[in-house]
Amino acid sequence: MSNSDGNLHVALLPSSGMGHLLPYLRLAASLIHHQCSLTLITTHPIVSSAESQLISTFLSAFPQITQKKFTPIPLDPVAANITDPFQLQWETIRQSAHLLSPLISSSSPPLSFIITDMTLMSSVISVTAKLCLPNYILCTSSARMLSLFSCFPSIPSSIPKESLPPILLDSNGSFTKNFSDNSGSLKHFNGVLINSFEELENESLEMLASGNLTEGLPPVFPLGPFLPLELERISLLAPLKWLENQEESSVVYVSFGSRTAMSKEQIRELGNGLVLSGCKFLWVVKSKVVDKEEENGLDEILGHQLMKKIENNGLVVKEWVDQWQILSQKAVGGFISHCGWNSVVEAAWHGMPVLGWPQQGDQMINAEVIEAGGWGLCMKSWGWGSNHLVKGVEIGDKIKELMGNQRMKMECARISEVAKQRSKAGEGCENMLKTLFQSLTKS
Ligand code: UDP
Ligand code: UDP
Repeated sequence: MSNSDGNLHVALLPSSGMGHLLPYLRLAASLIHHQCSLTLITTHPIVSSAESQLISTFLSAFPQITQKKFTPIPLDPVAANITDPFQLQWETIRQSAHLLSPLISSSSPPLSFIITDMTLMSSVISVTAKLCLPNYILCTSSARMLSLFSCFPSIPSSIPKESLPPILLDSNGSFTKNFSDNSGSLKHFNGVLINSFEELENESLEMLASGNLTEGLPPVFPLGPFLPLELERISLLAPLKWLENQEESSVVYVSFGSRTAMSKEQIRELGNGLVLSGCKFLWVVKSKVVDKEEENGLDEILGHQLMKKIENNGLVVKEWVDQWQILSQKAVGGFISHCGWNSVVEAAWHGMPVLGWPQQGDQMINAEVIEAGGWGLCMKSWGWGSNHLVKGVEIGDKIKELMGNQRMKMECARISEVAKQRSKAGEGCENMLKTLFQSLTKS
């Protein structure tokens, strides 16, 4: 399994979107720490500026990593019937997966195994199976989502059907078809690595390990919580400076991740809600899915009136912020989140109560993890992203509830303590990776 120098050579194949790329790079750093040689396969053209910048910073920080550039055959978004540019990139890679074969087989020294993104599974497994190359998955979502994924189109009894995103209820759509194909290919993989840990998702991890969900499910390695790399630090200091001057636990941080745009109407209701809550707030506004298209100024998006009302209560930014640093500030006492999985794990680590407002995809299922743990709320009644306008008054009331709930604060402190314990050397990731490497040397 290892090369002549005794080291494993691992290739990483992320798909696209910061929520997929970040956990890959965080895992990459752990693998390097374990003396693995790495090849990072990057797909071009890269969709967002955030991804391009992160990839170049990462490769400069780790010059020992080999970059292999993959340029798939472009797809026509109209013919493919896909509007989301990140999803289009997933589909583009899938349809050009055969072109990965020469790229993978020319790796020197030969690869020990590859780690593939979930969105690409069924198309990549046929390539790696022909090359007899072991293939692992890095699941960028929750174990709860993985439990659905592993038996789809069946739905585990622990997950209400209403928690599935509307896009997955359309059984004829291409998203559902890919999801289903990927799910069906799971048993051909050697294992699933996941950014989760026992105390965060005990029930789902046990269910996955029990073998009761699906026959032939490969082993799941919970490696979480993943921690950010030093190189992810960015120089946008204004939010951190502003937070330094706020009272302890007085600020609500609002962000919907890297690829969720809100309608102007909903953004303005949210702004009114924040003002009505009477709390201080740090709000990252996003009106476009891809950062390169974010050309409108805050004045235009929020309107003059709202901008005036906000002035004394909060700070609003439109740029990429250092979420990890923000969550670690004493002044921050609550988080309004779409519940992308990375954000959920980061909130857990920091012991931050979450007002979960899922917008799409796996986010409702992820938010249910927080709700079940008692350290946040999952706003089911607010519907899915674009199909429902939530009024400012209602938002304001829920923010007050979030910031004043003592029971949630206690649960948060508990989960944070466990998460920090897990991320100490020798715990969680380290031990799991050792188990993984041991299983590899046996095969
Ligand atoms: N993030 C960040 N700054 C931003 C927006 C996002 O640091 O301005 C990070 C966030 O901390 C998380 C990731 O980007 O690690 C987003 O992943 P998540 O799964 O939460 O949501 P997605 O963006 O995939 O919807
Ligand atoms: N997924 C998949 N195939 C697809 C789309 C999604 O296998 O074509 C899986 C994948 O594991 C992904 C999860 O479903 O992480 C949730 O999808 P979503 O659109 O929410 O992507 P994410 O928010 O994770 O970027």
